[in-house]
Amino acid sequence: MRENGFAIVIIAYRRNEVRLSIWTSFYLDLTLRDVLLRLVRLGWKDVEVSAEHGQMATHGDDWKEQLSFLRNLCEENGINIWQMHSPLELDVADLNPKTREKDIETATKWIQYAHELSVPYLVIHPGGRHGAKIEEEESIIYKLNVDSFKYLATVAEELNVKLCIENMQERENKDPKRLGAYIYDLNELIDEVGSDSLGICFDTSHANVTGLDMFHAINECGKRLFATHISDNDGSGDQHKMIYGGNVNWLKVISGFDNINYDKAFNLEIPGENRTPKGISYLPLPIRDAKLNYAREIFRYLTNNHL
Ligand SMILES: [Zn+2]
Repeated sequence: MRENGFAIVIIAYRRNEVRLSIWTSFYLDLTLRDVLLRLVRLGWKDVEVSAEHGQMATHGDDWKEQLSFLRNLCEENGINIWQMHSPLELDVADLNPKTREKDIETATKWIQYAHELSVPYLVIHPGGRHGAKIEEEESIIYKLNVDSFKYLATVAEELNVKLCIENMQERENKDPKRLGAYIYDLNELIDEVGSDSLGICFDTSHANVTGLDMFHAINECGKRLFATHISDNDGSGDQHKMIYGGNVNWLKVISGFDNINYDKAFNLEIPGENRTPKGISYLPLPIRDAKLNYAREIFRYLTNNHL
């Protein structure tokens, strides 16, 4: 009996671990409302609202009403929006001060959107998206990031949202230096800003292109890890394929999450899987649904295999 009781506790504990989640742009041809309802029918209740869907849902003056409608829809259907992605083109360390200010303003708005939608984690790319060609530029970009995130962290703190800075990709000796390609870049930036409102979003594909060891990188994120982008590639570029569609070491990924007791979204961000191979048209909806079932089987295999 005691043994059984112990087993039940372990299972319950494990159910609280990392949660399989899907990024809504997998169905970008649908409205956010329709994606959420489709996912509920398929048995998926954990999601990331993509930057594209976030943009659609906040278009127009009635954004508060639109977001409150979506928040209610989630509450009624037991949907957890774990994370939301801010616009991909945002650059809070743009060298042009006017562009930078505009982008900081947009980031501020998105923290508000996350707040209205009751989303705890907002994913944002570190500034300096074009990379640094010379060392001098590298330190300027770093300083601009510190200043911008100092400001954004105060907004995030007030609105009870955590900003998750994502690791970027950088192919050694091929690409310009990209701040955030290494986890220590992110830790250094967050340490310097010194706010608990900042955390990390770990992107497995970016890490694989940069050549990071998955277990080590996830451990470096540690308690700051609040969000993830899960996809695979062959290391030559950001292909955003399904798990096991490339050469990412998935057992190391899962062991890494387990080692830091990560218990948030294992969020698939797989734009390499929702279109025909030439990338022109979307795959039929039932084919995409079937891919999600397949993803669920892989996730089961990975978590059972490991635990
Ligand atoms: Zn991203």
